[in-house]
Amino acid sequence: MVHVYGPHIFHTDNERVWQYINRYGEMMSYVNRVKAVSKGRVYSLPINLHTINQFFGKTLSPGEARAFLESQADLSIESPETFEEQAMRFVGRALYEAFFEGYTRKQWGVPPSELPASILKRLPVRFNYDDNYFSHRYQGMPRDGYTRIVEAILDHPGIEVRLKTRYDSAMRQGADHVFWTGPLDAWFGFNLGRLGYRTLDFETLRCDGDLQGTAVINYCDADVPYTRISEHKYFSPWELHEKSIAYREYSRLCGENDIPYYPIRLVKDKVLLEQYIEQARRERGVTFVGRLATYRYLDMDVTIKEALEVADAAKAALQNGGGLEAFYVNPMG
Ligand code: UDP
Repeated sequence: MVHVYGPHIFHTDNERVWQYINRYGEMMSYVNRVKAVSKGRVYSLPINLHTINQFFGKTLSPGEARAFLESQADLSIESPETFEEQAMRFVGRALYEAFFEGYTRKQWGVPPSELPASILKRLPVRFNYDDNYFSHRYQGMPRDGYTRIVEAILDHPGIEVRLKTRYDSAMRQGADHVFWTGPLDAWFGFNLGRLGYRTLDFETLRCDGDLQGTAVINYCDADVPYTRISEHKYFSPWELHEKSIAYREYSRLCGENDIPYYPIRLVKDKVLLEQYIEQARRERGVTFVGRLATYRYLDMDVTIKEALEVADAAKAALQNGGGLEAFYVNPMG
């Protein structure tokens, strides 16, 4: 089982989302434990007590580590707005430079001082030895892969799938409503310009035996061109494989013919986004839903949660006899 679009670990706190995904495939228990290479050494991620002790060569207790990081942090930053300020405020310069600065420049193509603090807030800092990358109640990996799950969701008498078919507005004829999950700017034919995305390139590595001995290792130094290596067989530890396939992951600016992965959301993208949202608000008979159509850095579980809410609202609109013509949900807020 290969994660062809990069590592996807399912994690959520939302009971409804967890029940939903479990209806379509068996979720195996899985805990994401990531390692990070910085300046030729391997550390535990997210930053936890082990990382702090490894990095500073200490044997601190939780309380001592908390006090120590406070001594490293820039407490004068009261409400961090940028990625860099968030890092300086909570972990200090040494850990920031070792784990975040280089990786983030490679991943986003800009210095962390130009990125929002929200990107770093995805990662916890822990003062114990818990090295689980996520803090959610439910975490798992589909036994037969995400492709089987999506196939099972689409296996419904009301759904017809047409692959390799580009949307064109003539298809709207005869439809009561469109739920658009493609890129927001694509719906409007890019009439205001293009929203910025990062795309990924994967270089495949194959070997006999083990390549790196775990699912994900991040490469935090700026002079290593890739961001991480994923060794796919470790995402399904219930299977046994004698050979191994791994992906080296490279991030770059998304061109017109590339697959958009991460919305960049820098200031200039946000200005354009506002303008597209204005246009979207004026549209009738279309609902914009999902990561691309709302141009947000959404995880799988949030995407599913919002899709279920949109479906609830559509159902309610139909039941109230209002018809879908009057139904418009704008999850971009
Ligand atoms: N990040 C970092 N160093 C790491 C891991 C993450 O600087 O070793 C930063 C980076 O900017 C990244 C963000 O934290 O984009 C969020 O990381 P996450 O692992 O959630 O990214 P994803 O798996 O969604 O690509």
